[in-house]
Amino acid sequence: MQDKTSILLVYTGGTIGMKQDPVSFDLRPFDFSQILEEMPELKKFGYRIDTYSFDPVIDSSDVDIEFWKRLTRLIEEHYDSYDGFVILHGTDTMSFSASALSFMLGDIEKPVIFTGSQLPIGMLRTDGKENLISSIEIAASKDKDGHPMVPEVCIYFESQLYRGNRTTKYTAENFRAFRSANYPVLAEAGIHIKFNTAFIRYPETWGKPLRPVYDLDPSVLIIKVIPGMKRDLLDSLVSIGGIRAIVLETYGSGNAPSGKWFTDCIRKAIDRGLIVLNITQCQAGRVDMDAYSTGKSLKNIGVTGGGDCTTEAAVAKLFFLLGQYTDNKTIIDLLKKNIRGELTEV
Ligand code: ASP
Repeated sequence: MQDKTSILLVYTGGTIGMKQDPVSFDLRPFDFSQILEEMPELKKFGYRIDTYSFDPVIDSSDVDIEFWKRLTRLIEEHYDSYDGFVILHGTDTMSFSASALSFMLGDIEKPVIFTGSQLPIGMLRTDGKENLISSIEIAASKDKDGHPMVPEVCIYFESQLYRGNRTTKYTAENFRAFRSANYPVLAEAGIHIKFNTAFIRYPETWGKPLRPVYDLDPSVLIIKVIPGMKRDLLDSLVSIGGIRAIVLETYGSGNAPSGKWFTDCIRKAIDRGLIVLNITQCQAGRVDMDAYSTGKSLKNIGVTGGGDCTTEAAVAKLFFLLGQYTDNKTIIDLLKKNIRGELTEV
């Protein structure tokens, strides 16, 4: 490790790295190696800030598991050479990527801060500059013993730092694009950056090597329960091949239609060896299948409660667990456990 604080700034794509063409007003990605010229403010940090740009850069709608593997590998390869990592990423799937990396990177001891913007960095009213500058400052922040203040995969956006696997993109309009409804913010950037250390995950002992995981299995389907859903459609969905798990997005605290046809369909999926994970459609709160009889009937047929996990974290966790284990019991046990801060165990 060098004396000068060092940050690797990775540009993957998304709005933040765009510039408006002065003639046509079209938005185009700018040459990211020129970021220090675009934002001379970054030089004032006095840190070593190296940049790496994906080529080609992607709109985050095109994120897939190969992209997560590339990003994880990049962090693994540079893990010992930098104090922290800032990942510029499109906002649309940022919560999925931050959730996935929280599982793939394992027990990290360095900050990996995702950020982006709603307006391109090359526009006058951009939110990108503050997001980027504060993300770098957070990634570089250390305590009095020289340990990182936030050794986690996070999202920083509009003055708030969130645990990545607790977030959801909440608005396509406002600058505060993300929410972490079930977990407190990890830091708040005002005049000072105030770290909420009681809610940050710290390793029991420092100095463990990074052990990333690359095996993911995306054989997961999401089914959102809606009033009036058709039996034959649900039946077809749970019968298709190639899936190992279903995220069932239910109402409120984990409730679904009480009709026998519905429970029969879900039971059929479970009997076929599928894992069914119950996640609430609500923005906040948790699944409690004991609260109502409509939830209880799901529990009785073997549906697994997803607690207060977001859909994004549930999907990423399933990809991760299905990639690691073949035995459903182990997977279900781990779904009920908090592995990377994604779940509040009760
Ligand atoms: N479509 C863009 C993306 O997610 C939006 C953004 O960057 O905010 O890549």
